[in-house]
Amino acid sequence: MRQKLAAGNWKMHGLAADLAAIDALRAANPAPACEVVICPPATLLARMAERLKRSPYCLGGQDCHVAAKGAHTGDIAATMLADAGASFVILGHSERRADHGETSAVVAAKARAARAAGLVPIICIGETEAERDGGRTLQVLSDQLATSLPDGTDAPLVVAYEPVWAIGTGRTPSPAQIAEAHGHLRSQLARHLGAGPAAAVRLLYGGSVKPANAAAIFAVAEVDGALVGGASLAAADFGAIIASLDAAG
Ligand code: PEP
Repeated sequence: MRQKLAAGNWKMHGLAADLAAIDALRAANPAPACEVVICPPATLLARMAERLKRSPYCLGGQDCHVAAKGAHTGDIAATMLADAGASFVILGHSERRADHGETSAVVAAKARAARAAGLVPIICIGETEAERDGGRTLQVLSDQLATSLPDGTDAPLVVAYEPVWAIGTGRTPSPAQIAEAHGHLRSQLARHLGAGPAAAVRLLYGGSVKPANAAAIFAVAEVDGALVGGASLAAADFGAIIASLDAAG
């Protein structure tokens, strides 16, 4: 049985004053059945860790470097995220692939570094609109998954299906399209990892998840939760999404 997971990606949003949103979220959802991870910008990691202490909520980073330390100005090592209290890290988000030219090989190397630091990687993959329109979605997902996965099957892993065209746009795939993508990813994971380890991987959907569409998305087979961007910034919205995930069982 995979525990459901709701991950909030704050992206490049959030100042110290915004940490109060977490108190509101915790007050409204004091004991979620699902696992909840908050991924704030690096500047807020330590203060968020303080805020999440003695709560069921976990902390996550939004990226890490492939190396454990070194001359990489502006980068952050997985060991530093762990040191700040994180237990998860988002890797290969389409914004990083687009803005920083991250290839799947780099994502796989980052996932290895994350695991070496004891973090659970949340590996993001997803097709562009042109790829979907061209009928290439499943092939793109197969290719990105195969090349982004770290070696080894003995540590936890999360994969987020995030259609690029759905991120921040208010558009989402139909439940049938999400079911097709997640079913495909589960079978591809079994090819790469073997059936047992593949069954343990949590598959998140990400892309314009909101309180109004969460229940329909969480009802889709093989959806183990969500990676939420914009709606994770508002405690009421993210709280409603968490409640929806809990209700989906
Ligand atoms: C994301 O950033 O991963 C994301 C899914 O964003 P949004 O929920 O805003 O579409």
